[in-house]
Amino acid sequence: MQIALVDVVRQFRTIEADVRRALERVLEKGDYVMGEDVAAFEQEFAQFCGTSHAVGVSSGTDALVLALHALDIGPGEEVVTVPFTFAATVEAIVTVGARPVFVDVDRDTAVLNPRQLEKVITARTRAIIPVHLYGFPCDMDAICEIARRRGLRIIEDASQAHGAEFGGQRVGAIGDIGCFSFYPGKNIGAFGEAGAVVTQHAELADRIRLMRNHGSPDKYHHVRLGWNYRMDTLQAAILRVKLRHLERWNEARRQVAHNYTRRLGAVDGLGLPPPCVYGRQVFHLYVVRVPRRDQLREYLAQQGIATGVHYPIPLHLQEAFAELGHKAGDFPVSEEWAGKVLSLPTFPELEDGEIAYVAEALRAGLTALGGGSLGAERTTNGE
Ligand SMILES: *Cc1c(COP(=O)(O)O)cnc(C)c1O
Repeated sequence: MQIALVDVVRQFRTIEADVRRALERVLEKGDYVMGEDVAAFEQEFAQFCGTSHAVGVSSGTDALVLALHALDIGPGEEVVTVPFTFAATVEAIVTVGARPVFVDVDRDTAVLNPRQLEKVITARTRAIIPVHLYGFPCDMDAICEIARRRGLRIIEDASQAHGAEFGGQRVGAIGDIGCFSFYPGKNIGAFGEAGAVVTQHAELADRIRLMRNHGSPDKYHHVRLGWNYRMDTLQAAILRVKLRHLERWNEARRQVAHNYTRRLGAVDGLGLPPPCVYGRQVFHLYVVRVPRRDQLREYLAQQGIATGVHYPIPLHLQEAFAELGHKAGDFPVSEEWAGKVLSLPTFPELEDGEIAYVAEALRAGLTALGGGSLGAERTTNGE
């Protein structure tokens, strides 16, 4: 058996006729840039998120850059986020000239630890970027309470969490601005690059709309500095087809996760994904923690099973961000997760037989590698 980490073509086959029809319509109409489907997708995605506004943009990274610009965040200012995320979260902060300030993740959930948030807030802090990693919602009540009290903005990085919920609200709709990526492997993916910014604030939405299109409301006037961060009409047309299936796909992902957990529950030495007590997760990835991770990956690859590591090196230890002056040990919980995480194949179309095969190979691999305990070298949570 060969099992991919994400099989985007298998999903395409299930909606092929609708996608081809949608593409054909755009090709014949010719509104390739800022076409009808972009505006329609924006309305439909805002409705999905429960926000009054959505703006289609060129990628998730650009969505974050636009969100920071919309809040006039720049040089001399600080933005707090976690080191255990995809590089784009921090790239965006650096891109606008602000300084990324890290707060460690929670030991149980791997998302922003609100109990450590206040101690990194300074007079220069402008915003917090919580990342709903793997589709697991951050504790938004705690984060919003601190932001309100300290006068800070919240930009949610919801790039892995389309449709996840906290307290009955969809993520992205809870902070001031929510940012989404539609990179092909995300819970809803374009056939190329795309992203979106959502917000409840008309003024912020208007600014973002202007900035993604050269600061121009009408082609000839440029009322503020802008860029080309537009979403392609072809991608919007595909995303409209896919959005109709997103809820069902997220449910299928939860089913895949449930199936893995049922089969892996009794396996020794394995850290399973935490249950979400305060919200609803959407399993962008099903991530276990294992000893001897890299050997285990190799073993699984030999059984035809592709796995991933999200992410092996926390951002405070990446060369690109060396200027921030961090060293190993600065964010121990992020480092511990980074050393152990292993992403198993996760996508809505994954079949029971495949899940059983992966689970059995994982069990056999752990045994073959001599097991080993997970939590041996526990570090403190710094509290
Ligand atoms: C995918 C992702 C992004 C970036 O999105 P792109 O569309 O690839 O630019 C940002 N943040 C997180 C957490 C992501 O997973």
